[in-house]
Amino acid sequence: MKFEEFDITPEIKKSLEELGFKKPTDIQFKSIPAILKGEDVLAIAQTGTGKTAAFAIPIIHIVHEQKGRTHDGIKAVVMVPTHELAIQITEVFNSIGQYTGVKTFSLFGGVDQAPQIKQFEEGVDILVTTPGRMFDLMSQGHIKLDRVEVLVLDEADHMMDLGFIKDIQDVIKRLPKNRQTLFFSATINDKIKKVAYSLVRNAIRIQISPKDPVSKNIHHSVAFVEMDDKRFFLERVINENADKKILVFVRTKVRAERVMLALERMGIKSITIHSDKEQEDRLEVMKLFRSGEVKILIATDISARGIDIANVDYVVNYDLPDVSENYVHRVGRTGRGVQKGQAISFCSEEEKDMLHEIESFLDQPIKVLEIHKGDYSQTIDLTNEKHTDWKTLMKEIQKHDEEPKKKKKKR
Ligand code: ADP
Ligand code: MG
Repeated sequence: MKFEEFDITPEIKKSLEELGFKKPTDIQFKSIPAILKGEDVLAIAQTGTGKTAAFAIPIIHIVHEQKGRTHDGIKAVVMVPTHELAIQITEVFNSIGQYTGVKTFSLFGGVDQAPQIKQFEEGVDILVTTPGRMFDLMSQGHIKLDRVEVLVLDEADHMMDLGFIKDIQDVIKRLPKNRQTLFFSATINDKIKKVAYSLVRNAIRIQISPKDPVSKNIHHSVAFVEMDDKRFFLERVINENADKKILVFVRTKVRAERVMLALERMGIKSITIHSDKEQEDRLEVMKLFRSGEVKILIATDISARGIDIANVDYVVNYDLPDVSENYVHRVGRTGRGVQKGQAISFCSEEEKDMLHEIESFLDQPIKVLEIHKGDYSQTIDLTNEKHTDWKTLMKEIQKHDEEPKKKKKKR
């Protein structure tokens, strides 16, 4: 099967060819015809399998076909959890739709809303947005939704979970009843599935439900490392993978900054991203990491969802995630498309319960990376010449590390 064979406009086929997309991935093969037919879709497919284009291609086609024939107004709304994801998905729409004249625009909070409002006056066909800012502008009367035909919830399980559901329900109330609703995610659970069913008109089609939620392109394992020793093992991973792009996930924003400082003292340059950073800084950080100017990014779970950065070779779970499905999303930042990736999780004694929770979510054990005793002590060896300053460093960081533990979210 080639994209050629789909019933989509030649303008889209041309850009797909330029993007180097030769044939559709499985999820694209199954979703595109269903969406073109007007069906509601719940699509569950592993990370990095091209879900964005799976909804972008048919939506751009539908909007393009109607252009000039119907009244103006927003035709499709794509809801996403973060600013970064809104920008990334808008870029995908703009590159696939570059020859169509379909206008896609992204909307997110944390920045001045005046330029965003101005954009609406110029005409927007497709809106990619975080729910909060969308709700604000809608309440102020700047966004009209009476022409919306398609609603997409990307990272659907996360979007329908507690933090977002209220805003989303309020937005949905203002959408035409006779619309198409599409859900895309790599993970879903029964509770969220029920919420999804309550938001659609027709029976929804489940596209692909992978047995193993972790993509086969990702080689992932766990190493038993005590809390205080983690930084030495991180240094080791970094040194053994010089020149590679490494994404390090930590439990809290405070820890993100501390790990960055610890690395700095070891002479390793890294950057951080978390919700305490200004929007502009977050965008700058993403640019530096995307371009490879800085090769190590330390992130909290805000960056676990949907972010597509080429050549992230390694994901390190410096801390295990608090929520088991985030394991799948974190490790899924590597091994995207046809690329291969590696992930390692550092699990301390106190995180073992969480590890079991994750394994039961995955429905299988995670491979253990055995570290021999000698090897372990060598990694944390403080007498090693280049580590002479670490004793002070460790003491300092231990002091910081005594922050209260966040309560685990039960699912
Ligand atoms: P997902 O949302 O499933 O995690 P993305 O939509 O972010 O995945 O796509 C992952 C990567 O795969 C992107 O870099 C994208 O450009 C690439 N990709 C998507 N579809 C195709 C295709 N048909 N052929 C080649 N590469 C593709
Ligand atoms: Mg995605």
